[in-house]
Amino acid sequence: MSAYQSFIGLEIHIHLLTESKVFCNCPARFGDEPNRNVCPVCMGYPGVLPALNEEAIFMSYLVGRALNCELADEAIFDRKNYFYPDMTKNYQISQFHSPVGRNGWFDIRLEGEETKRIRIHDIHLEEDAGKMIHASGGSLLDYNRAGTALLEIVTEPDLVTGEDAEAFIQQFRNLVRQLGVCDGNMEEGSLRCDGNVSINLKGKGLGTKTEVKNVNSSRFLRQALSYEIRRQKKLLDKGEAITQETRLWDEAAGRTEAMRSKESAHDYRYFPEPDLPPFRPTPDFLGKVDEALIELPLARRTRFVEELGVKEVQADLLTEERATADFFEATVAAGVEAAAAAAWICGDVQKHLKRREIALGESSLSPARLAALIKLVEENTVNRNGAREVLEAVLDEDKDPAEIVAERGLEQEDNSAELEALIAKIADENPQAVEQLTSGDMKPIGFFVGQIMRASGGKADPKQVQSLIRAKFGL
Ligand code: ADP
Ligand code: ZN
Ligand code: MG
Repeated sequence: MSAYQSFIGLEIHIHLLTESKVFCNCPARFGDEPNRNVCPVCMGYPGVLPALNEEAIFMSYLVGRALNCELADEAIFDRKNYFYPDMTKNYQISQFHSPVGRNGWFDIRLEGEETKRIRIHDIHLEEDAGKMIHASGGSLLDYNRAGTALLEIVTEPDLVTGEDAEAFIQQFRNLVRQLGVCDGNMEEGSLRCDGNVSINLKGKGLGTKTEVKNVNSSRFLRQALSYEIRRQKKLLDKGEAITQETRLWDEAAGRTEAMRSKESAHDYRYFPEPDLPPFRPTPDFLGKVDEALIELPLARRTRFVEELGVKEVQADLLTEERATADFFEATVAAGVEAAAAAAWICGDVQKHLKRREIALGESSLSPARLAALIKLVEENTVNRNGAREVLEAVLDEDKDPAEIVAERGLEQEDNSAELEALIAKIADENPQAVEQLTSGDMKPIGFFVGQIMRASGGKADPKQVQSLIRAKFGL
């Protein structure tokens, strides 16, 4: 690859989580009986007028704001003309001349690198088409999806590898989910992504691109683009030209196949939609967009790592869902160390939730309860094993930790006198270890702890044992 350079730009479509379709009042619901959620507007009957869904345009501006776009003072809708049976009007209402947002960027984190800024070319609101189902003996059409709100996000070709594209789509998915504008389900097509890719000799700029479609997971996106880069390289190595075309990812075969030569914008005869006035956001509307903007997942992750000292892998997990990050912050606010809260949430809490197949938000564990549990451990009221038992009981019985500790008699007895006696005995038997310790070599601490744990049949609290040893030898 060394002589070559690769360029990847993504075109992402997200289904906005609106109640109704983008230009009519039909429910935007999936899985209903075919052709139930239709009306003269989304079926393209003559003489009917579309009307813009406020929720859809609000979500669009919110995404534009989150992606640092220049937001349109006047968002204009255009007709994109083409014929296909899944679209009864023979045109799709989209945006071309003045989309909701332009010239933005999205920062992503790449493995082993700093963050990378990916420029956003534009974002525009449009309507989805219906679904064509090819059955034996003919094709069936379901227009329930026709006219549902789609937001398209187009990046500049700033991504370099299949891995970059995978990271982008995963972090972008996280963003739109946390913004509450899309459920991000790629298998079901709520988030769809086409990958555009070209290669060229280093320093020569962009090459002739191909567009890869039919990738319904971030992993397939990575595989398809990596495949495509290899394929293009082989062609160039042989002195052959790349054909600009659309290709399909064949998941089973693990390769892309030519589908059609790519049409260009002028083929669509875009022109302004005469039935919809331009959308002009008021200061009040833009104020509400600002209010709805959340701290972006990457910024939050960075803050957790840099300001709260959370480990990177834990910060990843904590910021995957907004509810988890909120839960974590509320636990810390209840007065426990961030490191302890992160370790509990990413460790035992996750494990037990998974086992019970419930989400954190649905469980009977609250930030206050987790903080109380962590404090019980810190104060040595319960040991680690006891604490785990308490956690499970909180989840199963919906009670406060203190109540469970009392009911089950989980308080640790104060057995420091007993442990001190043990330490003295082991010290007597191992004068060399004691000498090492007192001369500043800490290695034997592990030996002492091990001996005492064994002598106590594993019941002693290793942390307590450590501090007793340190106290005894004045370390
Ligand atoms: P088209 O007119 O074929 O749709 P666009 O210029 O609208 O092409 O770009 C579509 C997507 O393809 C964008 O994400 C853009 O970044 C990407 N792209 C455009 N040209 C190239 C290229 N030469 N190599 C890789 N990606 C490209
Ligand atoms: Zn309708
Ligand atoms: Mg284009």
